[in-house]
Amino acid sequence: MTRRHGPSAPRFPLPLDKLGSKSGSPATREPLRPQRLLREAAQDAARLATPSGLGLDSALVRQRMVERLRAEGLRCEPVFAAMLQVPRHAFVDTALVGQAYEDTSLPIGLGQTISKPSVVARMIELLYGGESARRHGHLGKVLEVGTGCGYQTALLARLGRRVVSIERLRPLFDKATANLATWRLDSVRLVHGDGMLGHGPNAPFDSIIAAAGGDAVPQAWLDQLAVGGRLVAPMHHAASGGQILMVVDRTATGWQRSQHEGVHFVPLKSGVL
Ligand code: SAH
Repeated sequence: MTRRHGPSAPRFPLPLDKLGSKSGSPATREPLRPQRLLREAAQDAARLATPSGLGLDSALVRQRMVERLRAEGLRCEPVFAAMLQVPRHAFVDTALVGQAYEDTSLPIGLGQTISKPSVVARMIELLYGGESARRHGHLGKVLEVGTGCGYQTALLARLGRRVVSIERLRPLFDKATANLATWRLDSVRLVHGDGMLGHGPNAPFDSIIAAAGGDAVPQAWLDQLAVGGRLVAPMHHAASGGQILMVVDRTATGWQRSQHEGVHFVPLKSGVL
């Protein structure tokens, strides 16, 4: 049986207004709930601990990052929508959080880097130019070589139907696994292995994207690219001595290559550590 407390039956030894409670009849006054206050204090502490520059809502900072990418001439609304959702700062070390929304690559350990947002957006923009992506409006089944911290993987998960991402360095594979665990991305499969071999069990792929640059496109990637699919990868460029973005389209009759702007990626290496 519920007992109602009226003015004649105060619930507290002290009058509620002396405790700083809200006004109103005693029956409607909110009792003090220390647990709630503690929780609020913890939330305040977490908010105040947010590094300066990120403000109270990192969504605004992501919005500004996307506006800058648009101003630079990038045109890929799907990747912009994904970039607005995925908090890049959650993928970098705490000390670097303040730089997470600058257009810069940042160290992620073991001499590797999280790629620049503009380069990530550009490579995905190129992937969207492939025949199959244009026809379906999404990237289909994606192979990502070089998971790193998993930021680009989280973007791809929103742009393809399935993503297989391979990383050769165990500590980074573990880091990406932890980073992506919060998102419960059912369509993503992370693999610790040598991405130069592609991933036979899940081939063919509609989109292949590499985050590390080699001397030539590995044969496995060409073989595992579906007809109508597109591959985008940094590649050594003999004429300049640097790297360029290489695009390969697979058609019914073969593979068509085109070369794009210069880039600077970490090296593609074989073997697993
Ligand atoms: N997209 C990642 C980029 C990480 S840097 C991010 O934004 O975090 C490129 C990654 O490619 C490195 O982690 C490196 O270890 C990995 N890599 C290089 N060669 C590889 C290979 N053969 N197979 C799988 N991963 C490779």
